[in-house]
Amino acid sequence: MKQKNKKNASLAKLTQQLLAIDDSLTGCMRCGLCQAVCPVYGVTLKEADVSRGKIALLENMAYEMLKDADGLSERLDRCLLCGSCQTNCPSGVNTIEIFLHARQLLAEYKGLSGVKKIIFRFILPHPKLMSFFVAVAGRLQRFFRRKANKNMGMFEFPLLRPFAGKRHFQPLAAKTFSAKYGKINTSAAKSGIKIAFFPGCVPDKLFVRVAEASLKVFEKHDVGVFMPDTMVCCGIPNLVSGDYTSFKRLVKINLDLLSQAEFDYLVSPCATCVSSIKENWFRFRKDFTDGERLQIEKIHDKTVDITEFLVDVLNVDFTQSANAGCTRRVTYHDSCHLKKTLGIFAQPRKILKNLSGLEFVEMPEADRCCGSGGSFTLTQHALANKIGQRKRNNAVSVKPDIVAAACPACMLQLMDMLSQNGDNVEVKHVVELYAEQLTVNS
Ligand code: SF4
Ligand code: SF4
Repeated sequence: MKQKNKKNASLAKLTQQLLAIDDSLTGCMRCGLCQAVCPVYGVTLKEADVSRGKIALLENMAYEMLKDADGLSERLDRCLLCGSCQTNCPSGVNTIEIFLHARQLLAEYKGLSGVKKIIFRFILPHPKLMSFFVAVAGRLQRFFRRKANKNMGMFEFPLLRPFAGKRHFQPLAAKTFSAKYGKINTSAAKSGIKIAFFPGCVPDKLFVRVAEASLKVFEKHDVGVFMPDTMVCCGIPNLVSGDYTSFKRLVKINLDLLSQAEFDYLVSPCATCVSSIKENWFRFRKDFTDGERLQIEKIHDKTVDITEFLVDVLNVDFTQSANAGCTRRVTYHDSCHLKKTLGIFAQPRKILKNLSGLEFVEMPEADRCCGSGGSFTLTQHALANKIGQRKRNNAVSVKPDIVAAACPACMLQLMDMLSQNGDNVEVKHVVELYAEQLTVNS
């Protein structure tokens, strides 16, 4: 009897979820304007890959799930969740929310793969365990890698070819940022501003230099910093894979840690983390306790990208260091999470245009997706490669010495694409370029 009741409850939940998805699809008027901006459609030219095609598929979601759940999953996974379709949709269809809900429903229906279960449920919630694995992998990586682009310091891992194709990788950090710095809690000093620092997984484990540059900038501007040493992932990989339970668990762990100190802003150099905290935590806030929901709402208002923090909050005067010497050409790639989700594109440009020793040059299609989409680069690496090649071609067309970005996930993709083409172009975070100037001037 108990078993039967449980089954009925799950069926009722499934039906409700299907109806909710069905309701959200009605806004699409089939105009097809999303075709022009979808990076996946731009490569495949298949209607099934653009949001209009996916919406049509989801209109029969229950049937498709019963017929071929794996096939449906594969088709839904051919999407970067870049938000280009949503930003350009004249009917305001919330495609990202639709696709996230559909993935969640599908994951609940067919279950997650064993590897994802282990990563999402047993490794990501335990940062010390994660740091241990990274430290072990960091030590062993030299036995498995092969130099791929000497100038850019990039490597290939032949053993990963079945999963990642011929991707070029930046080596893992010998020590993660959080292991190196531990818990940080400094006072607000002259600025009177205290921030919670959320470095993000990629700066923590790969681009430690980006997290260190952020600390240097905070110190320069007398900003107090709070950073627990056991902060966990923002939950975006879990959410995009449909594992909503583990997403919620990670959010709860972070909320508990962030409740340990008062802060005026939550700042991150990772555009993906900023958009995840500001948009996704907020989007699903109703599923948390009253106290947590209140905390999420406060955090939503306080969360800022680091370039936004420098320009709009600290009002840093960059004009004093305008292009002295013009020795290096820098171009900028707009991360989808930063520009399309958060509307931030002027702030990083303001910094780059005013820093000493840089000549800013705009690349064509600067806000076109680079093809980096978390697990998309692994599960759909051939597609990610083709999308990334267009970004690389646009970037090198303006002959830069440096390609700047404000999202470490995009930086990985940009480095991979440039390296695979045998280029010798630096890829740097905007905050690194600012921090370098502080060294010169101090
Ligand atoms: S642009 Fe919007 S309304 Fe038009 S087809 Fe795409 S999703 Fe539908
Ligand atoms: S989110 Fe991006 S990749 Fe996905 S359908 Fe929309 S434009 Fe295409």
